[in-house]
This record gives sequence, C-alpha cells and structure tokens, in this order.
Amino acid sequence: MNFAPTEMQSQITDMIRDFAEKNIRPKMMEWDESQEFPIEVFRKLGELGLMGVLIPAEYGGSGLSYFEYITVVSEIAKVCGSIGLSVAAHNSLCTNHIYKFASPELKKKYLPKLASGEWIGAWGLTEANTGSDASNMKCVATKDGDGWVINGTKNWITHGKSGNVAVVLCRTGEPRTKNNVTAFAIEMGTPGFTAGKKENKLGMRASETCELVFDNCRISDAQRLGEIGEGFKQSMIILDGGRISIAALALGIAKGAYEASIKYSKERQQFDQPISNFQAIQWKLADMATQIEAAELLIYNAADKLIRGEKMTKESAFAKYYASEVSVRVATEAVQIFGGYGYTKDFPVEKYYRDSKLCTIGEGTSEIQKLVIARDILQS
Ligand SMILES: Cc1cc2nc3c(=O)[nH]c(=O)nc-3n(C[C@H](O)[C@H](O)[C@H](O)COP(=O)(O)OP(=O)(O)OC[C@H]3O[C@@H](n4cnc5c(N)ncnc54)[C@H](O)[C@@H]3O)c2cc1C
Repeated sequence: MNFAPTEMQSQITDMIRDFAEKNIRPKMMEWDESQEFPIEVFRKLGELGLMGVLIPAEYGGSGLSYFEYITVVSEIAKVCGSIGLSVAAHNSLCTNHIYKFASPELKKKYLPKLASGEWIGAWGLTEANTGSDASNMKCVATKDGDGWVINGTKNWITHGKSGNVAVVLCRTGEPRTKNNVTAFAIEMGTPGFTAGKKENKLGMRASETCELVFDNCRISDAQRLGEIGEGFKQSMIILDGGRISIAALALGIAKGAYEASIKYSKERQQFDQPISNFQAIQWKLADMATQIEAAELLIYNAADKLIRGEKMTKESAFAKYYASEVSVRVATEAVQIFGGYGYTKDFPVEKYYRDSKLCTIGEGTSEIQKLVIARDILQS
C-alpha cells in the first residue's frame, strides 16, 4: 500500500492552504463567537470544485476519489473545524446519498446545484430521542394517494436552516421491524417543512446545527430515494463513507493543533530556553506525531478499501474511532503546551480543543464505533 499524496492531492493542499489563509482564518473567530454560518465561503468552495468532490463531472462535480476527499476535509479542518464539518456533511452525507440512491431525474435536479455550492445540503437521520438507536425513529412518512405526508422532527441536523434540500430518513413501516425506513429528498420551503431550534454548541460553532420540523408536509413519490423500506440500509452505506470523512476532520484538527504546538514550543522561553528543550514537552510532541501518523494510515486504509469496492465497515470504524480520540488527546495536550495562553482565545488551540470533541460524537459515538468493530470481529 502506497499512501504517498498524489499530484492532485498536493495541488488540492496548496489550493486550500491559500484559500483558507485568505477566506477562513481572518474571520473564523468572529464566526465562532457569533455562531454565524458563513454561507459565502461555501459558495466560493463550490467554485473551487470542493462541494461536489465525489460527484462525477456529468453532474457538475469534481469526480475525485476518497483519497482527494480526505485531503479536502483534513486541510480545511486544519484551519477551521466548523468549515471542515460542514463541507463533510454536505459532500458525503446529503450529496452522496442523492448521488448513490436518487432517480436519474432527481440526480439531474439536485446534484449540479449541490456540487456548485449554489445549494447547501442537509441529511437528517437523528431525532431527539433516537441518536445511537437511529432505526427506532418516530418521524413518519404515510402514503397518501400518489404522494407521502411527513410528520415528526429531526434533531442535530447540520445545515438544518440554511440547507436548500435535505435527505430525510422516515419510518414507513411498523416500529422495530425490518426494512421500515425510507429516504426522501425534501426541499426547504415545502409547505409543512420548517427549521426549528438552532443549537448553541461548545465547538464547531460556525457549522449550523438545527432541528427540522415536519407538520403534515406533503411531498410527491418522485422525491423518494430508492425503494420503500431501504432507507436504513442506505444510511449505513452512507455512514461507512461518512466515518472516513469525520476521521479526516479529526485528523485535520489534530494536525492543526500539533503544528501550532511545534511552533509555540520553539518560541516560548522559560528558564532561559525554549520549552521545546524540556523532555516533558518533547514527549508530548512525540506522542502527538506518532498518533497522528497512525490515524492517517487507518484513514487511508479504510479509503483504499472503499475505492476498491471492498467491505470496509470495520476499517472505517477503526479510522473514525481512533482518529477522533487522537484529535481530542492532541488538542488537549496542545492547550497544555501553550499553558495559560492556550486557555485564551488569543491563540488557536482552545478552538481545536472545543471542536475536536464533536468528532467522538457525530456520525456515531466512539462507543458505537467499538460496538461496530466488536460485532464485525465476533462474526468472523
Ligand atoms: C454538531 C453536531 C452535528 C450533527 N449533525 C448531524 C447531521 O447532520 N445529521 C444527523 O442525522 N445527525 C447529526 N448529528 C447527530 C449525531 O450523529 C448524534 O448526536 C450521535 O449519533 C449520538 O446520538 P445522541 O446524541 O442521541 O447520543 P445517545 O445515543 O443518546 O448516546 C448517549 C451516550 O450513550 C452511549 N450509548 C448509546 N447507545 C449505546 C450502546 N448501545 N452501547 C454503548 N454506549 C451507548 C453513547 O455512546 C453516548 O456516550 C450531529 C450531532 C452534533 C453534535
């Protein structure tokens, strides 16, 4: 296995570094403070081809592989986790679900708009009382003539307010039965579909997280994604890839915190010498570097399997679990290396510290990743 960056990955890295220095870094603390979702940044990312990374050119996307997608998410997250999370949710949840499971008509209708960044996508699986136990959802779609009527709520949905179209998973069968979930693409503005409460979060504050409310929302059957009853299976396929993107998000945050720590430790003087001279600091940096390298290899290994079309549920869970825990550990040590300054908003590490925690929760908590891994190991 050779995971050396391709020429395309190197070009993407240079492009994102340049873009982020001009368009993200100068404003990100302001957005973080006010919880503003900076929609104009996503329009510009669309112009760079980064809002439809995995979507073929025939639908206006960049037609790149998961290797390049990892580079996109991690390089953005190295600067700002919030923008990285939103790019990940838009690309690998909403847009990818439509690409993989929508009818040719719906693909033509939505993918060019999503891939160009003209439209923002949302993906709604979670509800207030069904997070890890997602299949036990209460949001219901009832067949009514030639269409469907949707009732219920979805919670914690990235771009729940600013999203133009949401992939929504609804129960269409009896509770706790097999094949009882169906996916629909529902446009914001459809009567009966509104955005509810916006969450006030610890981190990832510029990535909008909002409730979706459905009150007798009527949609045509043409908005259905795939077969009736296949929605949960579709979601598991989408989440296999989604875990790689959250792992890439975690990797980017860890790298950002590590690089800031290296720089600071060489500059900060105590006892008439840089703190990087102290073995206690060196060991922290060595632990960070080792864990980042291991996380990166797990991520590329999962992506390699996905690209080859092999089953990679266990490998993507390995990557998501390990990279997200590493992200929290590295960001925590980064704050320690910065000492009191790390505890202020004048330096970047407190934001990495807050943002990193989402990675152990979103798209399946660390505990759920261990459950997925254990189930796989015990089956074989
Ligand atoms: C910022 C943010 C953005 C999000 N974006 C989206 C989105 O765009 N779309 C979407 O659908 N969802 C989204 N989510 C929801 C996210 O996926 C859920 O929060 C996550 O799956 C966990 O669900 P929960 O919060 O209900 O926790 P719970 O399921 O209530 O878990 C609580 C605790 O119990 C543990 N636990 C639960 N079940 C088990 C078990 N069987 N064994 C061991 N431990 C268990 C969990 O690991 C956790 O520690 C987002 C969440 C956040 C915070």
